[in-house]
Amino acid sequence: KPMKQINIIDSKDYVDQEVEIGGWLTDKRSSGKIAFLQLRDGTGFFQGVVLKNQVGEELFEEIKRLRQESSLKIVGTIHKDDRSHFGYEIEISSLEVLGTSEDYPITPKEHGVDFLLDHRHLWLRSKKPYAIMKIRNEVIRATYEFFNKEGFIKIDAPILTSSAPEGTTELFKTKYFDREAYLSQSGQLYEEAAAMAYDKVFSFGPAFRAEKSKTRRHLIEFWMIEPEMAFMHQEESLEVQERYIAFLVQSVLDNCQYELKLLDRDPKILEKYTKLPYPRVSYDKAIEMLQESGEFPDTKWGDDFGSPEETFLAEQFDKPVFVLNYPKAIKPFYMKPHPTRDDVYLCADLLAPEGYGEIIGGSERETDYDKLLQVIRDKGMNEPDYEWYLDLRKYGTVPHSGFGLGLERAITWITGEDHIREAIPFPRLLNRLKP
Ligand code: ATP
Ligand code: MG
Ligand code: MG
Ligand code: MG
Repeated sequence: KPMKQINIIDSKDYVDQEVEIGGWLTDKRSSGKIAFLQLRDGTGFFQGVVLKNQVGEELFEEIKRLRQESSLKIVGTIHKDDRSHFGYEIEISSLEVLGTSEDYPITPKEHGVDFLLDHRHLWLRSKKPYAIMKIRNEVIRATYEFFNKEGFIKIDAPILTSSAPEGTTELFKTKYFDREAYLSQSGQLYEEAAAMAYDKVFSFGPAFRAEKSKTRRHLIEFWMIEPEMAFMHQEESLEVQERYIAFLVQSVLDNCQYELKLLDRDPKILEKYTKLPYPRVSYDKAIEMLQESGEFPDTKWGDDFGSPEETFLAEQFDKPVFVLNYPKAIKPFYMKPHPTRDDVYLCADLLAPEGYGEIIGGSERETDYDKLLQVIRDKGMNEPDYEWYLDLRKYGTVPHSGFGLGLERAITWITGEDHIREAIPFPRLLNRLKP
């Protein structure tokens, strides 16, 4: 009967059976009679053992000459091996070289970040990027599952737009035939329109921001998940947000144990983040906490938080924390003012623990036509750009709320990585547009 072709990830179903696996060589060592091949097949990293007296002199010598990244078709028997991260190894009975490899630039030794980023197209093959991309995939999969089970439908926002909801300083301008267009910074205004049509909706798409500063948290191109809910106030939206984040963390804990192990990310830390509710603290109180700490002598009411402030605040709690009701001046125009205070909005940022900063920004939206028009005028925004958006308040306006999660922010935090560039396959950074 023909040999069954499998992926190493499915090993447990093939213990002590002979199978075929396509893969690449990552490292090897050999003695006179036995060779140990370190292999990867895209689904896992594992060891292959070759015995000279089993494969014959000629093949054994060829195997000893193989270079890193040679692509191979392997036939062998799967064995349990508790010493490996992965839990299985393969005893190779025959092997075919599909593609040889030149001297591979990424060796097992340490490389600098710039070198690795220049070789991102190859670096993706290494263990750490593998584990992060698998977790990224799990976060995306769990996002669809969560919103599906909560009754949301996915409605995508356009990427080419005529105006900018989050302000104009970080916009990418492009030509749109004989007019100007901008790459989307957020799909939110469109999601509001979609919520008025279909109630609970979410978008998942790229966002572009010409962030001029180099930080560990900002990409030029990143992916956002933006849910929007009709007939929903801010308080209830916070509950959706914390359920969503806890669900993402739980999904990674359930389905990415091997990947967390490869990253040395302690599941015990993540388990704390699945316990609800998350604490809530007002912006006013947050300012007090910063001032009383003595570490932020210049902080005053009205300031926006940077990375040090967000890190300090999050450290006061052992779970993600919502900071509520920011001053109007530091948040976008579309938010609804607090019912009893006219200096703050009904909004919240969710700050991740361990110094990862804001992962979600959200708010209840202004529903009143006249008030919204007034804000647009006060801010000197281009009124005609917002006619369609104002229409939403003319035809059956309802309370509605929504939020935006930065996918790579969430992944950087969940994986415990230092820099957001690791959380996206091909990062776009201030000085990097290639590969
Ligand atoms: P920050 O204060 O960190 O600059 P923001 O308040 O400008 O973020 P929002 O406009 O609220 O960001 O966007 C929603 C979410 O998108 C943020 O909470 C964050 O998770 C993510 N995000 C924003 N800017 C970036 C970026 N440049 N790179 C990666 N993710 C980002
Ligand atoms: Mg920003
Ligand atoms: Mg912010
Ligand atoms: Mg924000």
